[in-house]
Amino acid sequence: MECDKCGSDAVMHAGYSGAHLCEEHFLASVEKRVRRRIRRDSLVPRDASPDDPERWVLGLSGGKDSVVLAQILDETFGRDPRIEILALTIHEGIEGYRDESVEACVELSEDLDLRHELVSYEEEFGVRMDDVVEDDPEGMAPCAYCGVFRRDLLETYAEEFDADILLTGHNLDDEAQTALMNVFEGDVEQMAKHFDASLGPFDERTESPHFVPRAKPLRDIPEKEVALYAHLRDLPAHITECPHASEAFRGEIQELLLKLEEDHPGTRHSILSGYEEMASMAADRYRGESTAEMRECERCGSKTTREVCRKCRLLESLEAV
Ligand code: SF4
Repeated sequence: MECDKCGSDAVMHAGYSGAHLCEEHFLASVEKRVRRRIRRDSLVPRDASPDDPERWVLGLSGGKDSVVLAQILDETFGRDPRIEILALTIHEGIEGYRDESVEACVELSEDLDLRHELVSYEEEFGVRMDDVVEDDPEGMAPCAYCGVFRRDLLETYAEEFDADILLTGHNLDDEAQTALMNVFEGDVEQMAKHFDASLGPFDERTESPHFVPRAKPLRDIPEKEVALYAHLRDLPAHITECPHASEAFRGEIQELLLKLEEDHPGTRHSILSGYEEMASMAADRYRGESTAEMRECERCGSKTTREVCRKCRLLESLEAV
């Protein structure tokens, strides 16, 4: 198969667009879509200035998504004095998994000359995910604990590093899965939160005094294309799957989406664009109508709607084992 643009050998075919692209044009196409998303989401404010640079904290796990995002961000903004990028890696305490991906993060940060910070569940909370899986007093899937702990650390450190934006490497498949999960669960308020936290142009979102806003510049790029980009550029991405991966519902949705995409190319893109519109309407509906007052967790000071935040309640149940 030949590249539609130059006639060289194609390295990929995108069913949703019909495009066949060679390596050079495929890499350029991914970079162009990421930069377009950054522009559409207005991540660089018009008044950004080298005198008071924007601070972007990037969640860098060492997996293909965050590694590709770090590389493209560095090539786009590495020499832009209006933007400072800091990479933040979270070590969950998973034997044979996270140590290798932390090495990938260190290697990439050194290559790109990025400031890199590493924080761990063990140092912050006194727990390792390997032990949580063994004890599991709540009878929950490991990812349910891990997601709460990771979110807490990302938010805490984004604030500590005075971030203007917290960036994560979620790709099109991740976002289409989350969209379908929220729709299937019928959770309109969750859709509104999703929109206000990480979708849509910044200037159309609610100004939340509570959390650092999130951005997902890879959300137009299918997972397979992110993997191909990392492979073709020989980026130091760690691709082993976590041994505790257990989000059963997400797994079912993922399989469903892959089948739908195969039979009806473009399904993920249309799910996400329809969902963004619905989520935007849901955000309008809930805006200014805070259902629960934000306060500080009486144990750790994190923002929460309860006296004690979810992370502290989970940690307490682990201590009781
Ligand atoms: Fe944590 Fe689950 Fe991800 Fe493993 S797969 S790192 S347990 S959220």
